[in-house]
Amino acid sequence: MKWVLASNNAKKLVELSAMLAPLGFELVPQGALGVPEADEPHCTFVENALAKARHAARLTGLPALADDSGLCASALGGEPGVHSARYAGDPKSDERNNARLLAELAEKKDRRAHYVAVLVFVRHADDPQPIIAEGEWHGEIVLEPRGDGGFGYDPLFLVPELALTVAEIEAEEKNRRSHRGQAMAKLVEKLRQRR
Ligand code: IMP
Repeated sequence: MKWVLASNNAKKLVELSAMLAPLGFELVPQGALGVPEADEPHCTFVENALAKARHAARLTGLPALADDSGLCASALGGEPGVHSARYAGDPKSDERNNARLLAELAEKKDRRAHYVAVLVFVRHADDPQPIIAEGEWHGEIVLEPRGDGGFGYDPLFLVPELALTVAEIEAEEKNRRSHRGQAMAKLVEKLRQRR
């Protein structure tokens, strides 16, 4: 069964595809179907994810999956949050985003942060019952980047139980533990219940 992924983030595609392939679902990135990025004007992850999913479903006629996610630092009142992708402005840059996060936290003792992922699945653009699932992953921000796996803020996000950053762990381990992995497990369970 084919779904459109309402994102052009290649790393998200890899992570979500690895989680869905064993269940027989194939994700096609919206860019491959000529769908431009949707606006993300909202101040909550769930509203942005819904907007992205409906946009991709409307333009392709396929069921759509959207992921809106971000990193929330405790000492920054939850920022960058929904602004995570463009924290250091346009064009999007993981490197500049990480540099800004380190600068904002430079004087802060509280290094706690958590990732959030909200997944939204719609059967069609006007689906009145979207499936919504959320995951959180709690950790700490290190003082300088470590590792080269993952994407985004992963080189800065320490998993305290492992004493490793997410960029230093295997992809499978990330998928088992991550905000996205947790949200996907809940989404799959909700899909099963619907059938
Ligand atoms: P979105 O594509 O608008 O949902 O933006 C998500 C942004 O949040 C990404 O560009 C990253 O900056 C950050 N982010 C979300 N999930 C992860 C992750 O698993 N690792 C690292 N950064 C992430």
